[in-house]
Amino acid sequence: MPAHAYPELKKYPHLKGNFGTAWQNQQKEFDNIPGAILFTTNCIMPVKDSYKDRVFTTAVVHYPECQYIDDKKDFTPVIAKALELGGYKEPQVIKGINGGETITVGFGHHTILSVADKVVDAVKSGALKHIFLVGGCDGAKPGRNYYTEFVKQTPKDTLVLTCACGKYRFNDLELGDIGGIPRLLDLGQCNDAYSGIKVAIELAKVFNCGVNDLPLSIVLSWYEQKAVCILLTLLYLGITNIKLGPSLPAFVSPTVLNYLVEKYKVAQTTTPEQDLAETLGK
Ligand code: SF4
Repeated sequence: MPAHAYPELKKYPHLKGNFGTAWQNQQKEFDNIPGAILFTTNCIMPVKDSYKDRVFTTAVVHYPECQYIDDKKDFTPVIAKALELGGYKEPQVIKGINGGETITVGFGHHTILSVADKVVDAVKSGALKHIFLVGGCDGAKPGRNYYTEFVKQTPKDTLVLTCACGKYRFNDLELGDIGGIPRLLDLGQCNDAYSGIKVAIELAKVFNCGVNDLPLSIVLSWYEQKAVCILLTLLYLGITNIKLGPSLPAFVSPTVLNYLVEKYKVAQTTTPEQDLAETLGK
């Protein structure tokens, strides 16, 4: 995780940077890494022998043969392993999947809502026409470049909020800004889907309307992991017109799927061009 995005970690200037991308690249990215890895939450991939000695888990995560840090939170073994391995000898440039070398992080709901007046002004002045929330779990099957292309093609007068592993498809793109607000706002990891919902609810309050009436579209990157919880939460809140892709949930029966389509207007993604045109009413 990007260590400098969290206030308690940001206190330490040598903790910075974001290592790695989504879960399906984990085994490759962690292979022979010269540092210790502490898992605090999902998703952990089967740990390969080449790096098993440097993986630690804590809280809800456990893995056979990897040392577990219990509730006393004594991280001495993790620190000792990190010191023993010594880190990279030279500074590393680790590029995103589009070749970008910079990612901008730290837009939890407190940060975004602290500039809510700017966002509202931008909507009222017409500088900001639409907000997309694009995120969810990532996966390895073909078709997920949809999300990269979708975000690349979003018009310059739109914002993209993102979170969870799906963001690694595009979080290294340079999308510019609208009046000083970056067009790509990274809310954080999958657990921070809460931030997206919070922002939407607060904006709806400001505009005195329902979330479904906001110029906001949700495009969920589907995988049968935490995206399931994110979708169920959004449905519970009555949010409609969610686009899901590249596949629809495999575990729901055709009857349930029809219900979701009819009652919540859940739709499968098509192409970035078609979905953008439809969303923006063009
Ligand atoms: S976004 Fe999904 S795939 Fe990524 S860590 Fe969260 S649950 Fe796992």
